[in-house]
Amino acid sequence: MAVERTFSMIKPDATRDNLTGKITARLEENGLRVVASKRVWMSRKQAEGFYAVHSARGFFNELCEFMSSGPTVVQVLEGENAILKNREIMGATDPSKAAVGTIRRDFAKSIGENAVHGSDAPETAKQEIAYWFSELEIVG
Ligand code: ADP
Ligand code: MG
Repeated sequence: MAVERTFSMIKPDATRDNLTGKITARLEENGLRVVASKRVWMSRKQAEGFYAVHSARGFFNELCEFMSSGPTVVQVLEGENAILKNREIMGATDPSKAAVGTIRRDFAKSIGENAVHGSDAPETAKQEIAYWFSELEIVG
């Protein structure tokens, strides 16, 4: 399995609860390396751009409102099979359906305020990394 990069966000519910360190530790303990990281308070426009793929969904407004409601930590993670591995560590979108020991099971509040984001495929990982980081900011 190849070394991959994926994009991760620690969402505003989790930064509000001071969980940046605990969540990052889960990623590191599972073999992912943080090769870029910054704390951003995204604008409504940035949230809409990032989540454009969901613009037709009923929860789009709520999602963009939430994502621009406070600080987020955007990160690039590197490791073997990083995209799928991060999705496993995160758990299901709905925390009530997330497996025991996953980040969302332990820290998420609801299906909307669910602590973390992770890219779902190589193409989206590439796009999402480029949305927040320049190559110079990523140090493997
Ligand atoms: P994931 O983050 O697990 O990849 P999706 O890509 O389906 O999930 O959705 C993106 C984000 O939109 C979710 O993480 C969550 O914050 C929000 N969301 C998804 N479904 C709902 C819903 N039914 N109600 C409110 N917010 C939702
Ligand atoms: Mg998704």
